[in-house]
Parts: sequence; C-alpha cells; structure tokens
Amino acid sequence: MRVYIGLGSNVGQRAEQIQESLERMGAHGIVVTAVSPMYETEPWGVGNQPRFINGVCQAETELPPDALLQAVKAVEQELGRQPGVRWGPRIIDLDILLYGDLTMHTGMLTIPHPGMLWRASVLVPMVDLASDLSHPLTGRTMREHLDDLGPVPDVALYPPGLPPRNS
Ligand code: ADP
Ligand code: MG
Repeated sequence: MRVYIGLGSNVGQRAEQIQESLERMGAHGIVVTAVSPMYETEPWGVGNQPRFINGVCQAETELPPDALLQAVKAVEQELGRQPGVRWGPRIIDLDILLYGDLTMHTGMLTIPHPGMLWRASVLVPMVDLASDLSHPLTGRTMREHLDDLGPVPDVALYPPGLPPRNS
C-alpha cells in the first residue's frame, strides 16, 4: 500500500532527527520511496514553543493501518520521544496522513489524518510530492486544498535559500 507520513520536529537537531526517522523506517516495514523538501513552520495549537521543521514522505508498506501506527510510534520512541503534551514540543512526530484511499476512524487511529486539510505545514510538502493526488474524503486534490488555504506566510523552505521546487 502506498502511504504518506507527515514528519515533524521542534526540539533538538530538528532536521537531523527527521532524517534519522526516515532511515529507521525501513527496519519497521516502511519502505520510503520519496521525501519532500523540508519547511520551517510556525507552531499551532500550543503557543510559545520552538518552530517546527515539517515535511512529508511517501512510502510503501505491507503493514495494515494499526501495525503501521505501532511502527511509526516505535520509530518515534527510538529517537527518544517521551509521551508528553499533545501538540507540545516533540523530538519527532510521525503522523499517518494517507493510507491509499482508505478511510477509517477508531479511538486510536483516524485516516486520513484529520488535520491535514487545514495545515499548510502538511499541504505544502504534500503538493511537492503529489499535487494531483485526491483526498479520499473530499475528492479534491492536494493542490486544490492548499489553494483553499489562501496565503501561507508561515511555511518557509528549510534550509533557507533554495527556491521551492513547485513555485
Ligand atoms: P499529534 O496529534 O499532535 O500528532 P501525537 O503524535 O501525540 O499527537 O498522537 C496522539 C495519538 O494520535 C496517537 O497515539 C495515535 O493513537 C493517534 N492518531 C490518530 N490518528 C492518527 C494518525 N493518522 N497518525 C498518527 N497518529 C494518529
Ligand atoms: Mg503524531
């Protein structure tokens, strides 16, 4: 199954930790097939915390959704993430954004990830990887959802200086 995983970090060596998480996924049955550029983004939800580095990877996996969640949580723990404040600072945050066209909602797992349609920090890198991919619930493409957000001032390529691939 083709999946998209959101990558985030706002504590420590943020970009390095994201890179490390990508390198560790294979050992957990998640074969990374593409990685977006990384962006520095303004935190949302809980104020007064360091800026995030965010990106998205595309991967192939044979794991069912619940096992995929356990796998990404295992990678988070390998990088030293402790259970903490939801939406607060984190060493690494790996969110299952899309699992093929699957839609599901349990107490443990909601797919597609409910935040992805209003977070520029997800949609900007999703457009880099799969601008024409349709969201399984809305039927609209990643590009259309990003355009719906209007201007996105708080998402900047990281490291700075290189022009975004799709601009
Ligand atoms: P955040 O929502 O900020 O990413 P956490 O990473 O702490 O917060 O995740 C909290 C819980 O969200 C996880 O333990 C997991 O059970 C649940 N969850 C629900 N849907 C998803 C998803 N699509 N991807 C990852 N975690 C999810
Ligand atoms: Mg998470």
